[in-house]
Amino acid sequence: MGSTVEANWTAHHPRRMAQAEPMFVRGILSGPTAQANDSRYPVPIPTSSTPAADRSTIACGTCFCGAVQLELPLDSEPAISVVCHCTDCREWHSVGSVPYMMFPLLNLTEETGEMSIKVTAGASLLSYVHRTPEVRRYFATCCGTRLFNSVWNEAAGLKLCGTFPTVFSSFEWQPTMHVNVRESNYPTLDVRRFNDLPAEFGGTGTQAE
Ligand SMILES: [Zn+2]
Ligand SMILES: [Zn+2]
Repeated sequence: MGSTVEANWTAHHPRRMAQAEPMFVRGILSGPTAQANDSRYPVPIPTSSTPAADRSTIACGTCFCGAVQLELPLDSEPAISVVCHCTDCREWHSVGSVPYMMFPLLNLTEETGEMSIKVTAGASLLSYVHRTPEVRRYFATCCGTRLFNSVWNEAAGLKLCGTFPTVFSSFEWQPTMHVNVRESNYPTLDVRRFNDLPAEFGGTGTQAE
């Protein structure tokens, strides 16, 4: 029974099987990361021990349990604000599509760059996964919240950091487009929108404007 399931899985998911091993370079099992700032990677985790005093100039974000805290300057201009349907986003977040915004790295040189996002608490709780060396996906080991990504792809000329508007409570965000829709078989059609739930599932049944 077990071997049949395994054989079927391999037959239908050959790509995943091939990637399963290298994807988790440093995962939850190895514990909170002391090597978060790997000198071989040009985008260090952006820590700051001095939270900005003026709360009107920053958006504050936290992980689900609150142990990791982040700041994002409100004058940061996203390079792109999208709802992404790519396979990597869908699989990492376990959802049909992911709203995200990306920012150019700051103080960019040939060797390194800085993220706009700053981690003001809980930096030691961060870990990351990656499928390709170019993109690191950081999450909080305390509660599993996905928090931000860094991208350093010389070949494609992409040097960016990305984060999710859901992480930052006060960030006004509007997506300008859906991207990578061809990678998804998840429907993106307009469907009915309920303020809470349909009446048959215990909600009010009122539909959003
Ligand atoms: Zn947490
Ligand atoms: Zn994506």
